[in-house]
Amino acid sequence: MGPALQNLLNFDLPGLTAWFTELGEKPFRARQVFRWIHQQGESDFAQMTDLAKSLREKLTQLAEVRGPPVKADKLSADGTRKWLFEVGVGNGIETVFIPEGVPSSGEADDADEDSPRYRGTLCVSSQVGCALECTFCSTGRQGFNRNLTVAEIIGQLWHASRELKRAGYGERPVTNVVLMGMGEPLANFDNVVTALDIMLDDHAYGLSRRRVTVSTSGLVPAMDRLGESCPVALAVSLHAPNDALRDEIVPINRKYPLKELLAACRRYLAVAPRDFITFEYVMLAGVNDKPEHARQLAELARAVPCKFNLIPFNPFADSGYTTSSADSQRQFRDVLQRAGYVVTTRKTRGDDIDAACGQLAGQVADKTGRVMKRINRETA
Ligand code: SAH
Ligand code: SF4
Repeated sequence: MGPALQNLLNFDLPGLTAWFTELGEKPFRARQVFRWIHQQGESDFAQMTDLAKSLREKLTQLAEVRGPPVKADKLSADGTRKWLFEVGVGNGIETVFIPEGVPSSGEADDADEDSPRYRGTLCVSSQVGCALECTFCSTGRQGFNRNLTVAEIIGQLWHASRELKRAGYGERPVTNVVLMGMGEPLANFDNVVTALDIMLDDHAYGLSRRRVTVSTSGLVPAMDRLGESCPVALAVSLHAPNDALRDEIVPINRKYPLKELLAACRRYLAVAPRDFITFEYVMLAGVNDKPEHARQLAELARAVPCKFNLIPFNPFADSGYTTSSADSQRQFRDVLQRAGYVVTTRKTRGDDIDAACGQLAGQVADKTGRVMKRINRETA
């Protein structure tokens, strides 16, 4: 067997250029190949017709362009599409595409970024499972196996773009990326940042920083590092208005409590491409959805320019939680709005294919032993 092939999906443009230089190839050749891979979705070097035949042959011998294999591909009645990718034995990750509006000439209306005629959002996973154990999250319940590689993260966008172009979504089917799939993106920092670089690169997907959102449960030091190395839009999973409750449902809060988290949000805003942080707040009936919680939240968030995104809890088997009633959600929203905040409620999309927030389960060969522990506790 020869040496393993270099998967070029692992490289951002500087990385690919360095690799080409090692091969004795010119930087502009790397750029050409990078464009073939990400803009044309080409994985066959033989088809890269503007490269010398000798280079095409060399690449075929040394390299490959390989996204994770697709295990399942489901289409919801509302147009939402979900892919399950295989990432090793017993491990699968999920990616969700959420179209809104109709692609006209296939181009997003960039003249007005906030109300495009068409928006295609891809929700991307960053880890196999998640080690952070938020109590209401199906991914967290599944345990953790490993970080995804750059090729596995960008491979989700690469594959989706190729398939969606074929499905008639135009030349730019994905206009927005949210790192809100499985995993905590900032716990896989280096690979996520390299993947972000590729998303933003004009020679690849050319997404604007405002249209790429990292969602974090609040890893404070990594939030600072993200601001330094690759500031994109930031969403923070708040979910509770005080430390006592947040300690319980978002356990990372015990390490980085609210005061530190909010200070990190303020620091991030100094470099962020948007002038607000999005605070995500999952609505759990009887747990965090009372008017008193909304009042506390309004007070807490005063120091951070922000918008609230309320997420109706999406149930899964044995979660132990239920979704807040429509009335509670409305009251909660009204308290925040009266306090002067912009509040949106996330529409549930793709729930007929289990593609809604927090329902992404994929397949996780857990290495933490947590699932067993939990079952033992319940049966004890
Ligand atoms: N780990 C990151 C990003 C992935 S989760 C984070 O926690 O921010 C994306 C969003 O979905 C987060 O706000 C998360 O708290 C929320 N979420 C998790 N489980 C959910 C569920 N069952 N229903 C609704 N939202 C959920
Ligand atoms: Fe991990 Fe986010 Fe789920 Fe928490 S909500 S367990 S951080 S994926």
